[in-house]
Amino acid sequence: MAPLTAVAAVLERFNEPLTLMEFEVPRAEPGALVVKIDAATVCGSDLHIWANHLGPTYTLPLPLVLGHEMVGEIVELGSGADLDSLGNSLRVGDRVVWANEACGHCYVCTIEREPRLCPARKFVGLTNAERPPHFVGAFAEYGYVFPGQQRLRVDEAVLSEWASAGSCALRTVINTVAAAGGIDFLDSVVIQGAGPLGLFSAAIVSTLNPKHLIVVGAPDDRLRVAEAWGATHTISIAEYPTAEARRDAIAAITGRGGPSVALEVSGAPGAVAEGVAMLRANGRYVLSGTLGGGPQPIDMSRVTTRGLHLTGSMSGDIDSYFKAMEFLGKFRDRFDWGLMLGNRYGLHQVTEALESMGSMREIKPVLDPRLTVRNA
Ligand SMILES: [Zn+2]
Ligand SMILES: [Zn+2]
Repeated sequence: MAPLTAVAAVLERFNEPLTLMEFEVPRAEPGALVVKIDAATVCGSDLHIWANHLGPTYTLPLPLVLGHEMVGEIVELGSGADLDSLGNSLRVGDRVVWANEACGHCYVCTIEREPRLCPARKFVGLTNAERPPHFVGAFAEYGYVFPGQQRLRVDEAVLSEWASAGSCALRTVINTVAAAGGIDFLDSVVIQGAGPLGLFSAAIVSTLNPKHLIVVGAPDDRLRVAEAWGATHTISIAEYPTAEARRDAIAAITGRGGPSVALEVSGAPGAVAEGVAMLRANGRYVLSGTLGGGPQPIDMSRVTTRGLHLTGSMSGDIDSYFKAMEFLGKFRDRFDWGLMLGNRYGLHQVTEALESMGSMREIKPVLDPRLTVRNA
């Protein structure tokens, strides 16, 4: 029997259209899973990778199968892979999400117990695709879950496209919000950014019932989603084009000299300086949006004199995936997760999906490999 082949959308050259390439579908080695991608979604990082804007934080060994938000349906289990990382049984046909692979034996993994910060981490979507198993990114018909990658079965209460969006954007901000410390009814929280990270942050924070929940961003359709997901106020950067105008508008809402908590999830140049300038004394600031770009000036004296607490929060490990999936399922009636999701694209349309997200026409496009047209 000839080996089965399938296609993946491959990034061969930065800023150029992705190419549909055919690879042999791998067999599962012991501990591994072979999955059929059920849904994938575009992450803002994919746009940065496409444009080669993530250096020097990451090496990008082209060609890559782009994408790292996905849900797969198991088609083959390697020996010993019949349980997920939580001990749930896995069978052919079950849906799973899986995490980047930490080394498991460095100081950060073992002593700090922060595998998401492992310096030797292997990232889905950032692995060279020339060598088998080839299917090492999300925008493909198949996916390969390496033996060292933690994985979780997805509950049937969670639709695949929600779980896909949850597998990067939501699992990241689960940690962002937690890093702000216990947010409660006394807090006035500002979320800088109304993209997927900002909107998921708004949903999480709204379940903590803060005094104010203010989302800053654009365009207006995103701010409407923020309101639907619990923002008490929104500040349009089109309506308030300067940092000073936004700071004044926010201070007028919160009183007490500004917000007590700010989350930077926009990645916009200047956002950190703006966040530092707006926080009240003893304010907490968590940075998750800025992953690349050059150094940014901030007023350090403000950090000192106001006793601000600045924390970075990056990505998530399998515990964050678990919390993200639980959150999506528990609040499926309170938040319409579909409001974030855009059009459905086949793999031959990945470039179109990236452009649509990049131009802010859609918040999060969905890739459905079943819609793929070969030789399109
Ligand atoms: Zn991502
Ligand atoms: Zn490690």
